[in-house]
Amino acid sequence: MASVLLHVCCAHCAAYCVEHWRRKGASVTAFWYNPNIHPRQEHEQRLGAMRTLAGKLEVPLIVSPGYSAVAYYRSIANGQGTRCLNCFKLRLLRTAMVAQEKGLTGFTSTLLISPHQEHELIIEAGRDAAAAAGVEFLYEDLRKRYSDSRHITKPMDLYRQRYCGCAFSEWESCSGADDMGEKDGRTR
Ligand code: SF4
Repeated sequence: MASVLLHVCCAHCAAYCVEHWRRKGASVTAFWYNPNIHPRQEHEQRLGAMRTLAGKLEVPLIVSPGYSAVAYYRSIANGQGTRCLNCFKLRLLRTAMVAQEKGLTGFTSTLLISPHQEHELIIEAGRDAAAAAGVEFLYEDLRKRYSDSRHITKPMDLYRQRYCGCAFSEWESCSGADDMGEKDGRTR
């Protein structure tokens, strides 16, 4: 394995993933593209934590410029039933395109370490992005290492989010959604 573009959703999921792919012999570059994160201040706080982690781990970090919330809302225009799938597709397609542009071996995502995400949908989005961009989607089920990743970042005192990212997930993380039986568990 030569070079991997690692889509990073947050510092706390990225910590173990960077180590994992390095142990497999890959040269890892982190890539930040998360226009789903609402509001912008939250996006900046999570990105700031990721910049700090990247410095500590000495991993190159590419940050997609701007804050394109409109791209996220356009991507989920088909409705709530496919919201997370289309959110994953948006982010992983951009990752795959950048990996292809830079001539890297493949791409993957820190989303694959989270037990709070719908794992099969991430795989579907990754495979679709790979086919579209012509670059390999590197898959590993890292969910059993989720707490290991949190242990790595715990002493770093990084900003830690309370919900998955979008405005819907922020609402779902509140008691109102829980009371209505609509909370989906994707709080981190
Ligand atoms: S809950 Fe998370 S994965 Fe689903 S649409 Fe919102 S930000 Fe994206």
